[in-house]
Amino acid sequence: MELAFIESLKQRLPPHPQLRLGVGDDAALLALSAGQDAVVTTDLLAEGTHFVRGETSLARIGRKALAVNLSDLAAMAAQPVGVVISLLLPRAGALELATGVYEGILPLAAQFHVAIAGGDTNTWDGPLVLSITAIGETTARGPLRRDGARPGDAIVVTGDFGGSRAGKQFDFTPRIAEALLLHNRYDLHAGMDVSDGLSLDLSRMCAASGCGAMLDLQMIPISPAAQATSVGDANPFAALARALGDGEDFELLLAVPAAIAQQMVADQPLAVPLTIIGSFIDKPGLWQPSLEGDLAPHDPLGYQHS
Ligand SMILES: [Mg+2]
Repeated sequence: MELAFIESLKQRLPPHPQLRLGVGDDAALLALSAGQDAVVTTDLLAEGTHFVRGETSLARIGRKALAVNLSDLAAMAAQPVGVVISLLLPRAGALELATGVYEGILPLAAQFHVAIAGGDTNTWDGPLVLSITAIGETTARGPLRRDGARPGDAIVVTGDFGGSRAGKQFDFTPRIAEALLLHNRYDLHAGMDVSDGLSLDLSRMCAASGCGAMLDLQMIPISPAAQATSVGDANPFAALARALGDGEDFELLLAVPAAIAQQMVADQPLAVPLTIIGSFIDKPGLWQPSLEGDLAPHDPLGYQHS
């Protein structure tokens, strides 16, 4: 099935200005702008672990496999250039499955001007597995890393959090445009995307940066989906807990010098809101104000990969 599928796919792949050589040779050639770093990331989605076939359309599964990679490029403030896509397909209905996932991949690739530069397809007796590797390039501002947060920086987030299982986990927009705009216009110290849970990912930024963070829990933007799924919950803070720990929000988490963060929030330069949810502090770990007015430990909520 592979050759016939690749031939039909080639017909559907538009030309791309940075794709010197695409599907057909042993490897692809992507032209990068002189002086910029290549940013490379990969993500794998496996049936049974990351999705249940039949519960979610193949197009949404394919779209997500690409979107999570674009979100990681956004986290580095990189401009996407190209992707290579590997599919491991159950033997039964392999062509339909491959065609189905590409129904979601192709429009998202077009939306973000990403070249589909190549890949691999194989069949086996196991479940559906999609692996995508994305290549981006830094802008003149350089990469945005997660290890640059400093005590005194504000914690700034895009959008809202929690309840992504209601749909956002598949339908989110990778924050590429937002990351590039913010990185270009403001002095950002650190950035990452929130995939495993807001407070868990914040704790990772703190660990990478060698500092801690104080959360302002009243400022956490809770999504309507998190609110809706928490109606009737015995825990009055259920929606907040979802916002802090559900994960797969794919929003940006940024460390920004305090005065610049105030300016960003006043400017609101994005279509999605920017919110300050606390500040980075010297003391390692995550903290929240206690009732007595000092620091109480905040246990990170989120998804720990096994
Ligand atoms: Mg990430």
